[in-house]
Amino acid sequence: MFCLIVSKEIKSDIVFENEHVSAFKDINPQAPVHILIVSKKHLKSLAETGPEDVPLLGEMQRAAVELAARYKLDDGFRLVVNNGREAGQSVDHLHYHLLGGRRLKWPPG
Ligand SMILES: [Zn+2]
Repeated sequence: MFCLIVSKEIKSDIVFENEHVSAFKDINPQAPVHILIVSKKHLKSLAETGPEDVPLLGEMQRAAVELAARYKLDDGFRLVVNNGREAGQSVDHLHYHLLGGRRLKWPPG
């Protein structure tokens, strides 16, 4: 599904894009700001990345920082990777969740 969004075959609200990364608003937001940051390279999960993917992971985290600044999440934001079904990963394509705009509880549920 994310491959289709990344390749723009499915219309989505893309808020950030560069050579490595695409980001768009979650269709089921869990916070006032809830953005999915997706690798353009197809990787099933964080656990499927290898040493060659370290620069890509850095790009994804830097995208989060840029988006947090753009959405003025100065008081805090959270960047989450769910890896595997038990952790809540629902799409088998590597993505980070950027959440902010409200107080977030710790530990997460
Ligand atoms: Zn994919």
